[in-house]
Amino acid sequence: MQLLKKRILQDGKCYEGGILKVDGFINHQMDPVLMKSIGVEFVRRFAATNVNKIMTIEASGIAPAIMTGYLMDLPVVFVKKKSPKTIQNALSTTVHSFTKDRDYEVVISADFLTPNDNVLFVDDFLAYGNAALGIIDLIKQSGANLVGMGFIIEKAFQNGRKMLEEQGVRVESLAIIEDLSNCCIKIKDE
Ligand code: 5GP
Repeated sequence: MQLLKKRILQDGKCYEGGILKVDGFINHQMDPVLMKSIGVEFVRRFAATNVNKIMTIEASGIAPAIMTGYLMDLPVVFVKKKSPKTIQNALSTTVHSFTKDRDYEVVISADFLTPNDNVLFVDDFLAYGNAALGIIDLIKQSGANLVGMGFIIEKAFQNGRKMLEEQGVRVESLAIIEDLSNCCIKIKDE
């Protein structure tokens, strides 16, 4: 994922509190060539699994999840951050947002997450792993099986991977940020 790493170093901006902004090519404006290469890499890493559904959470996970689902010819289901009044058979859980410093409720319909599903969860960032924990809770409630979790960017210094791997989750991240101190972006060489 040299293209991704190059863009992070070139266009990523860091903020206090260990926040990396990638608005120009992932979170606000999206570079479709880069996003396609991200999808291709997730497919390469998870092709040998029994995944039959891609899952993500609104909003920034949707682009990489759709790319991956499109390339694997699999359905993509989104966890919603606002519960529509009309939702049927809702499963819900609470997630703590690191960037907004608040708790919020997320929901998914059990109609679209079932015990027949082998799920690959895809998202933009792995930080402390709070969103991922919420996803694990929803997957447990539904009776589905979690095949693995794929993140575009992991901030290794916030330790989300450790917590997920301790729960037996396979974690794949396409760019691992080792350090952001003094606004110097240090990416792990792989
Ligand atoms: P976690 O739940 O792992 O603590 O944080 C992951 C979620 O918070 C991601 O879905 C992402 O939206 C947001 N997030 C965490 N850290 C960052 C960051 O440094 N930059 C951006 N843009 N989003 C982040």
